[in-house]
Order: sequence, then structure tokens, then C-alpha cells
Amino acid sequence: MSIGPDSTHDPKLRSWVRSANLPGCDFPIQNLPLGVFRRSGRGENFRCGVAIGDSVLDLGALDMLTPFGGLGAEALAACAEPSLNRLMALGRPAWVALRRGLSECLREGAPQAAQIATALIPQSEAEFTLPARIGNYTDFYTSIHHATAVGRIFRPDQPLLPNYKWVPIAYHGRASSIGVSGQQVLRPRGQIMPRGAERPQLAASGRLDFELEVGVLIGSGNRLGAPIPIAQAEEHVFGLCLLNDWSARDIQPWEYQPLGPFLAKSFATTISPWVVTLEALAPYRLPWSRPADDPQPLPYLDCAQLRAGGALDLKLEVALETAAMRAGGTGPQRLARTNFRHSYWSIAQMVAHHTVNGCNLESGDLLGSGTQSGPAPEEAGSLLELTQGGARPLQLPGGETRTFLEDGDRVILRGWCERPGCARIGFGEASGSVLAAA
Ligand code: CA
Repeated sequence: MSIGPDSTHDPKLRSWVRSANLPGCDFPIQNLPLGVFRRSGRGENFRCGVAIGDSVLDLGALDMLTPFGGLGAEALAACAEPSLNRLMALGRPAWVALRRGLSECLREGAPQAAQIATALIPQSEAEFTLPARIGNYTDFYTSIHHATAVGRIFRPDQPLLPNYKWVPIAYHGRASSIGVSGQQVLRPRGQIMPRGAERPQLAASGRLDFELEVGVLIGSGNRLGAPIPIAQAEEHVFGLCLLNDWSARDIQPWEYQPLGPFLAKSFATTISPWVVTLEALAPYRLPWSRPADDPQPLPYLDCAQLRAGGALDLKLEVALETAAMRAGGTGPQRLARTNFRHSYWSIAQMVAHHTVNGCNLESGDLLGSGTQSGPAPEEAGSLLELTQGGARPLQLPGGETRTFLEDGDRVILRGWCERPGCARIGFGEASGSVLAAA
């Protein structure tokens, strides 16, 4: 089943939910991202919802109105649960049927509009939890610009290791400490080797950083021992979210060799509440290519679909709001902007590589893209790069400076897709705040 633009992507579609039609809205009717929510402060159960304009359509309540038949009804019935896992496991035909049904009942002139309006809740009255039960989390390293810039700081003599252009590098991350936007992140303590010292000390990290990443949520998994061929890889992907892989840059260099990141990363990861489905992203695909001078991927990481449309034109941004900015009401300051299109490895390559040894992906598994940095220095997705390892502090409005994050800082990730002739769709945000070490 190919994922191409269809009538649900028509830029002329408008919703009877008026806020969805406003210019710049992240959640027009062409988007329809899914998440898990409840109304705040009422002791309700979490259930699945879809974002439309400034509201959430309660899919549990919508199911009671039995608006769909067939596969769409089956998909909607799976949404009364406190996670998207059951829907995710149903597979792409069910996701497509649900999207079509939601698009039809939310568009202007839908005959059921008045009835369905009873299942709308303002997003401002909602609280969110993780969109899925995430059993496993793997973090990749797909931006060659990030890998090179970081390599230059840690290993000036050999910034890019020889395996990089052949293997989609990753490590197994920690699923238990993944939180949803709004997460409060306790500054971690860990073993740190001060420069010039003879022995390490246990201390609170003084070099706390963010990483601007794209999260990939697996829909239907694969059996142990049955790799997913690259041509089918995207059939297993439910959708994307924003992901901040908080990182302690002073714990990391001391612990990472030879087995990779451990406690420098496992204390917190923040994702956005809304999952933008791969169907919604169909109009923003780009051909995937590799520079002619670079090694071309091994056959199991290459296919015609990848070359035709395996990359995504997804704009990404990170902003910082310090305690002083909050107190002064100045609002967050943008630190960097980049695009997922610069990624050296694609989503399909991540999935195909992850399973080539027979490893089984499960419904709800999360893959991080790795920090996304573009070719220009100001397109970097971490403070480590933006401040050149802390050597060049960033100047902030109000006279503040930052090398790494301070207590009270709030980091906000945003993402959106726009293209002439298409609707603009957004991811909302993934934000998290730094609290003083315990
Ligand atoms: Ca990372």
C-alpha cells in the first residue's frame, strides 16, 4: 500500500472547527495528528484524541456516536484506550480508514457536525500523557553534520569515524524515562572527570544539553527472526513526533567508550504529545540521495521507493526560555532552525537496519533520529555544537548568556511542514524544563 497524497490532503479542504482554518495553525484538517489526553483535574481516564484547530476531538466519545463503518469503525474502537498501541497494531489500512473517516466528518458541510461537536474539548482544558506504551527506545545518529561537528569536539584528529557512511549508527536507549511535553527534568548527577584531574568525581552535571530530534513510532512490528525489507519498512511506521534527547555533556565523554552512551542520556527524554501520521506527511516527501563521492548504501539499505521519496521536508526549530525571560514576559528565544531533509539516513533505512539481524520491533517502539543539524553552523540541534563545546557562549536577549542549560530553563522544540500548493501542518511542541539537581 503506497502512501501518496489523496483527497484528505487537498489544500482547499476546510473544517467546521473554525480555528483549524486559521493561517499558521499547526492542526488544520489536512493534519489530524493523534495523541492521548484527558480533561485536566476531573479524574478522567486517558483516551485517544485527534487535534483539530485549538481543540481535541475525543475519539472515545466519537466512537459512541458510531460515525464510521467497516475498517474505520474498527480503528475508531481501538481509540477508546489510554494509548495508541491497539490502533498502531492494526496496520496501515486501518490508519488510512480512520484518517479518511475523520477528514470527512470534520470538513465543512459534514452532516454530523453538530453531533460531533459534542465530542470536542479545548486543548487548553486537556492534559496529555505519552501517546503510546513505549517498550523499546533506540536512538540513531542520522545527521552527518551533527556527527562531524561533535566528532570535531571529541576527536579533532578523526571527526567522522570510518563506519559512519556505511552503518546507520544507534544505541539502545532507556524507555522508562521518556516523558511527554511539559516534563520536568531533574539535573542529573554522575561521574565526571574534570579536565586535568587524576580521578573522577560524582557531581551534578554542569554541561546539560538538549538534542533536537525526530521520533519515529513503530506501528506494526515484525516477528523475531524476520527482518523488515527496506521496501516495506514504512508500512511499519505509524508516525512521527518531536523528541528532545536531554544529554549531560560532562558525563558523556568519560563514560561513552567503548560501549556508547549510558547515564549521560538515560535520565530523561521528552516527546511531543501529538503523533503526525506518515499519511499526513505524504505531500512533504523528497527524493533521497547520497552524494556521488560517498559510498552508496548496501543493497539492504537501498530501494526505488527510498530514492523516489524517502526523505522528508520537515522544518525543525529549538527555542529557549530562561527564568528571566519568563519573569520579563519576553517569551522564548529561537536558538536554531534546521530541516530533517538533511538527514544522512532515512526512516526506512533505520527500520531496515534495526531488523536486519532479526531483531523484532514492537508496536509502540520509539526510534530517535539522532540530533538533527543542518550544514550551516547556526543550523545545529544542540548547545554542544552551537557553543562549540562551551567555548563560545550564546548571547541572549536581556544580556544573559548560555553555554549549557541552567536551572529554570525551558527548552521548546517545534516542527512543521509547508510547501507551495499544500496545507501547512505542524507538530505542536515538545517542551521540558530543567530543575535543580536533587
Ligand atoms: Ca541523541
